[in-house]
Amino acid sequence: MKCDCCRSPVDEENACCQVCGFPLLGGDGSDMSSIIGDYRRSLLGGTVLSIEQFYYGYNGDGELEELKSEYVDIANAADLPQDEIMWFDCGYEPLELQREFELHALVRNSKYSFRANLLVKPDSVKTFSKLGVCTEDGCRVRFVVGDGTDNFYTESIPLLIKQNQ
Ligand SMILES: [Zn+2]
Repeated sequence: MKCDCCRSPVDEENACCQVCGFPLLGGDGSDMSSIIGDYRRSLLGGTVLSIEQFYYGYNGDGELEELKSEYVDIANAADLPQDEIMWFDCGYEPLELQREFELHALVRNSKYSFRANLLVKPDSVKTFSKLGVCTEDGCRVRFVVGDGTDNFYTESIPLLIKQNQ
């Protein structure tokens, strides 16, 4: 049996899901999508997903150098669709991926934040022109790097942050 809200495996002896707290109502066949949607919004509506973006420019010697970096908000966790990739409009120039790199992600809510350095390997994907996320069971997400056809999925990170990490 899986939680109706976050799809974590749940024990029927419990009154609610151990991951997201959604009550285990038992299926009576009625459409619960609006209740689940409201619950997800109250659970995740204050949670924001960001990635670190780097800005480059030419210095006085004509060399390209990193000018600054900052975390840029890319999505509210409550807006992420289930079962499909949400692509972001990042406006990246297509980049040939020749070596692995790290994507720096940040998830934060009103109290806590979680940082993760996610390894992207170029073995399954040759071009980086799009960045997206897809949701996973248990209120988790993976980042998706690729061109929309050949994609690399990072390891997953949690959306429910209960302590700073
Ligand atoms: Zn749940």
